[in-house]
Amino acid sequence: MIVRTRFAPSPTGALHCGTVRTALFSWLLAKKHQGQFLLRIEDTDQKREVVGGTENIKETLRWLGLDWDEGPDIGGPFNPYIQSQRLETYKQYALTLIEKGIAYADPYSQAELQALREQAQAEKRPFLFRDHRPSNPPQWDGSQPLRIKLEPKAWAWDDAVMGTVKMGPEMIDDYIIIKADGFPTYNFSHIVDDHLMQITHVLRSQEFISSVPKFLAAYEVLGWKPPVNAIVPQVMDETGKRKLSKRYGAKPLLEYCKQGFLPEALLNFMATIGWNDGTEQEIYTLQELIEKFDLSRVQKSGGIFDEHRLLWLNGAHIRQLSLDELYDHAQPFWPTSAASRNEDYKKQVLALIQERLKFLAELPELTKFFFEEPVVREELFTNNKQLKKLTKNERQTFLAKILAVLEASNFSETDLEERLRKLIDELGTKPGILFGLIRVVITGSNVAPGLFETMQVLDKETVLRRIKTIQQ
Ligand code: GLU
Repeated sequence: MIVRTRFAPSPTGALHCGTVRTALFSWLLAKKHQGQFLLRIEDTDQKREVVGGTENIKETLRWLGLDWDEGPDIGGPFNPYIQSQRLETYKQYALTLIEKGIAYADPYSQAELQALREQAQAEKRPFLFRDHRPSNPPQWDGSQPLRIKLEPKAWAWDDAVMGTVKMGPEMIDDYIIIKADGFPTYNFSHIVDDHLMQITHVLRSQEFISSVPKFLAAYEVLGWKPPVNAIVPQVMDETGKRKLSKRYGAKPLLEYCKQGFLPEALLNFMATIGWNDGTEQEIYTLQELIEKFDLSRVQKSGGIFDEHRLLWLNGAHIRQLSLDELYDHAQPFWPTSAASRNEDYKKQVLALIQERLKFLAELPELTKFFFEEPVVREELFTNNKQLKKLTKNERQTFLAKILAVLEASNFSETDLEERLRKLIDELGTKPGILFGLIRVVITGSNVAPGLFETMQVLDKETVLRRIKTIQQ
């Protein structure tokens, strides 16, 4: 069997981690089995559609490298892959159902339906449309909603993640398949499309679990074999109590792109929310994820979205990059003052901070002093545990000595270290004080990469100039 999976988002807002994780699982499953992954745009609820929604979906997937084998822009054997362009197909299937007596026009006005609902409520019983099926439904002319006739029945099915799921007949009712505006409902269009597009595995989020019986009932009356269903548990916030959603806590994924997160880190992060391969491994390449992913190891309960873990993982993936790769990724993130410096210099700078970099938008803050004169505020001395021990006079004396020593240095790392350590002994001070002082004066910060490498990269002229500036 060829595995065919799909991602079928509605263009109702920017894609976020919760939704894309389901897409990623579908993609991984298809790749693992050398199958196909489809992208289908489910734009049948036009009221909820947002401008640019489809573009955002495509851009997000492209950025992450979740390429689709069939779908918008590239087409495929089941064209088109945008539901609003498939209305005729849904209508044909709807007409067949009418012919077979399995679909009927809903004759009620909104007000009449509302009255029936209120009556059920007053009588403390659930409202079921099938209790009010018209005995002689009008001819469907497209202006009335069209409903599918489903007989109540208990369902038990094997979900690839959740195991056996059972639900009672109350989950099934005659639902609308074509709305009065001519568009199909999700409940109908996705069944038609998954069938026609030969989808073998449908992965979707937990909120759909109670709808599965009605989908299965529809497959039954249509005479089609349902695909393997897999309910992927929700992504929860850090407290584990609230579901992450467009409205709550979930950032558009492309925001991470703007912040300089690496797609491979985000994929690693999302794949390991609610899935593991049974080992302690945390850092995966995409190839490893493809090889190891398995629906049977997707956990049943919600996975936690932990942004600290994402930062850590991104740092880990940044550290795995070669200097050339890091340089390419870093291009859009340099401070403007870096424009005049060449590739070689920038690579030396990157080599110094690669260890500490968590996301690329940190670049200006971490590297500015390599490109422009730092602002050395007095608090940098007074708030530093070691440096505040020095009086201003001592500071100046130290700086004069440092300058003299550095003037004689050839500025190689080893020579700098040797000379400065000697000076520490001579002054009877501590490394924390002397090195801290130099660091603050040449970088304008208490945290910076290794001091001697930094001095070497900045070069002799710059370091001496910065020390002299402070002396004035
Ligand atoms: N269009 C549905 C949504 O975006 C897709 C659900 C599914 O994967 O079947 O929620």
